[in-house]
Amino acid sequence: FNSKKIQSVGHQTFLNFRAYSTTKKGRLDGKVALITGGADGVGKESSLLFAKEGAKVLVVDLNEIKGKEVVSQIKANGGEASFFRADVSKAADVKEMVEAAEKTFGKLNILFNNAGIMISEDDDSVNTTEEVWDKTMNVNLKGVFLGCKFGIPALKRAGGGTIINTASFVALMGAATPQIAYTASKGGVLALTRELAIIHARQNIRVNALCPGPLRTELLDKFLNTDEKRNRRLVHLPMGRFGYANEIANGALFLASDESSYVTANTFLVDGGLTSSYVTPI
Ligand code: NAD
Repeated sequence: FNSKKIQSVGHQTFLNFRAYSTTKKGRLDGKVALITGGADGVGKESSLLFAKEGAKVLVVDLNEIKGKEVVSQIKANGGEASFFRADVSKAADVKEMVEAAEKTFGKLNILFNNAGIMISEDDDSVNTTEEVWDKTMNVNLKGVFLGCKFGIPALKRAGGGTIINTASFVALMGAATPQIAYTASKGGVLALTRELAIIHARQNIRVNALCPGPLRTELLDKFLNTDEKRNRRLVHLPMGRFGYANEIANGALFLASDESSYVTANTFLVDGGLTSSYVTPI
């Protein structure tokens, strides 16, 4: 690209436009990302955003219909994506999903362990059943462990990379509206993330925990199904509103990109100030 020559031929406006369009860079250009729970909520918004920023995205979910819709949306916008159906609580599925990323796109640079569940019957320690406890732990904590177990060797094969594990604000503060299995699972994600980040700190692998505040997604909407339940929480939110999935996706994008190159072992809060708040504005 020879700018002097361009000026000399006098097509400056047209050629300047070309120069801008060819140098425009996405924040994830050349990267391959795998996003679990990519069919809905935070995972869906992140899949769309990461693809828009230049990543090739493997959308992983149990929900094949919604997952494939996300892929179609990415392709319609000129991005590259593929869908893989996996249950993150099953080792064989997780192994295959990582293999699928490498097979489809040649490598894996970004692993976003985002899939998670919150079961309506999850309560305090007396009332929560063993079944609810086990199911929650299997998806929310074991799922993240398995993602790291099979994902880290793939990141190493790519020369390094970044992992984002989704925890939650509930890992950091107690609530008198309990979901004890969910809370414990997210506390586990924080501890696991911290340790893995230190283990792999000299291997060009960063591992961070993303802690969203309460969000307007399917996961919470199903649980907070009355005005009374919603208002019980809203009074504690400094901004007076729940967050949106795209606001969490923006946080994930920062952790996924090289802009966060010195950020690891972090508890990255995107919570509207909730965990720092005592008395909220009226
Ligand atoms: P969501 O329910 O909108 O989407 C979750 C997606 O994960 C769904 O597409 C679902 O099909 C998929 N999924 C569920 N179990 C799976 C499994 N075993 N294997 C593969 N995919 C599976 O949820 P969301 O609100 O977008 O939550 C995303 C993450 O953020 C979760 O880890 C959640 O715990 C966490 N989080 C959410 C909130 C909130 O208020 N919504 C707050 C803090 C943290």
